[in-house]
Amino acid sequence: MGQSRYPRCLKMKWLFLTAKPDFVPDTITLLPDNIANQIAAGEVIQRPASAVKELLENAVDAGATEIKLIISDAGKALLQVIDNGNGMSETDARMCFERHATSKIRNIEDLFHIRTMGFRGEALASIAAVSQVELKTKRAEDETGTYIEVENSLVKKQEPVASANGTSIAMKNLFFNVPARRNFLKSNAAEMRHIVDEFTRVAMSFPEILFTLTANNQQLFHLEAGSLKQRIVQLLGTNYNAKLVTVKEETDYLNIYGFAGKPETAKKTRGDQYFFVNNRFIKSAYLNHAVMNAYREMIPADSFPMYVLFIDLDPTVVDVNVHPTKQEIKFEDEKIIYAFVQAAVKHALAQFSVTPTLDFELDASIQQLPSIQLPFTDDKKSAAAAGSIFRGFTQKNQAHFIEKSSEGELKNWRALYESNEQRVAGGEQIQAAPTHQSPLTAETELTQILNTYITIPSNNGFLLLHQQSAHERVLYEQLSAAGKDKPVATQRSMFPSTMELTPADAAVMEEIMEDLRYLGYTIEPFGRNTYVIQGTPADVEAGNDKHIIDILLEQYKHFSPEVKFSRREKLVRALARQQSVKAGTRLTEREMRQLVTDLFACSTPNSTPDGNPTYLEFKQEQLERMFGR
Ligand code: ADP
Ligand code: MG
Repeated sequence: MGQSRYPRCLKMKWLFLTAKPDFVPDTITLLPDNIANQIAAGEVIQRPASAVKELLENAVDAGATEIKLIISDAGKALLQVIDNGNGMSETDARMCFERHATSKIRNIEDLFHIRTMGFRGEALASIAAVSQVELKTKRAEDETGTYIEVENSLVKKQEPVASANGTSIAMKNLFFNVPARRNFLKSNAAEMRHIVDEFTRVAMSFPEILFTLTANNQQLFHLEAGSLKQRIVQLLGTNYNAKLVTVKEETDYLNIYGFAGKPETAKKTRGDQYFFVNNRFIKSAYLNHAVMNAYREMIPADSFPMYVLFIDLDPTVVDVNVHPTKQEIKFEDEKIIYAFVQAAVKHALAQFSVTPTLDFELDASIQQLPSIQLPFTDDKKSAAAAGSIFRGFTQKNQAHFIEKSSEGELKNWRALYESNEQRVAGGEQIQAAPTHQSPLTAETELTQILNTYITIPSNNGFLLLHQQSAHERVLYEQLSAAGKDKPVATQRSMFPSTMELTPADAAVMEEIMEDLRYLGYTIEPFGRNTYVIQGTPADVEAGNDKHIIDILLEQYKHFSPEVKFSRREKLVRALARQQSVKAGTRLTEREMRQLVTDLFACSTPNSTPDGNPTYLEFKQEQLERMFGR
């Protein structure tokens, strides 16, 4: 603390008391309305897209069945919304630009029962403070409409006008009077992306309304009124058409409905994820977590499932008034919502993906549902594992089965990887055990346990082999050897598949394409981040190439840049890991034998390339000690 004998606040008071009041001028003035509005606008209208949201929501609130959005110059020059809603009276048309002018709430009580998108009466006042606005509006019951021009919060012109029923609001030259803000705007492409995002969110939550979006005289969207599913497909792409699972649960407390993408639609970048609470788009990391939890074990840990979920509940138990643009809300009881969202999505996914190992933490009633009771039959499993185990693990139409193991795979991958990093950092080498004699004889009986481990009797005990780890070692050595002197044989695809990558992945692809060719994958650039897979190693099953490359890229990216593996080494490791037969796959006796034989033909059979054991040995003395004998 300071040296003063007085607490700071007392000293201040003393100074204040001794000052001569006559010399202290009053310093508080009331800001003129237009400046106050400009400041308020900073919160509500940050960029053209914010105006899009507000204007579209106003049109929705006005009961419109058709809403058109017209943009030019990414909304910097013009942003117009035309609706066929209720329209406004002459007085209201003038009033609507006043701050806190709203027809949607009348008292504080109403604030807790909000059913409209807007309620603060700030949007139009803010828009009028930072742009030139032209409003045309007419109610069905009026003969003529009203035209009003506003600039800098001031009405410039008002006159009767012949007009269709409804409202048109054009916002021109956004931030013309606040150059600092105008300079802060991003490129047209970036602002346009924000606009499309906002448009998408509103259009998604009101599929019964026709929406169009025209930018620079080009129609980007024409969304006919229809079902939610149709709207989702219109907005997010037809590739979701057959890949959506219906989510629908109803309780006294809340209803949830919408769609979740099948696991195979999960993407490497967060994108198509939408939550709406009482039809309002919200961002909630907490609820997103609930959905991610529902997908756990079904998709790789670092991929993002698609979902469009609507939560409807009594407006008295949510507070939508905690955020300037209302994108965050507060639930009275967040935990209930979380549990509910998770259960609803799990339940929905269970209807098509019937893996028994999924741990459903659902309540008993959900557990009883036939879709959950249905086992993932052995038939299906052997179908999934059909063919040589060396053919890669991806089997068409078994996405749920495959994705499940690849989740574990990615998790281990990281754990393994970290332990490997430590070893590399410590300069410690993984030593090959001195001798690795195959314990296999013609009489040896192999048993698979938990579809993951293989027991192999040895002369003084037994070996417990991990099938995935073992196979990874085998593939690693085969691929390293093959890549070393001559390229792996490629099989040209009859129907080469194309894949479009994100720019980031395309950069990775450019980096590894040459080495991939050496390893049997012929991939050719096709312009604009698109690549054609012309050929794959002969033992990769047709139809899986895209998926394989996808996962390969993922795994390749996981290598920490600190570890100085060569590109080829990274690729070989990633490929070995990715093509290895996964834990949980039923193997035939023949496949087990092949695996054990191949493993003991390796130069370092006892560990994976990452240094984890491929098998454990249990000797008789050891076993006896364990039994206290
Ligand atoms: P809020 O939506 O929070 O009420 P706004 O500033 O967005 O505030 O709008 C103010 C008022 O103007 C609204 O309450 C509504 O009465 C009226 N209004 C705005 N846009 C429209 C529209 N497209 N059609 C009919 N009335 C509208
Ligand atoms: Mg509004």
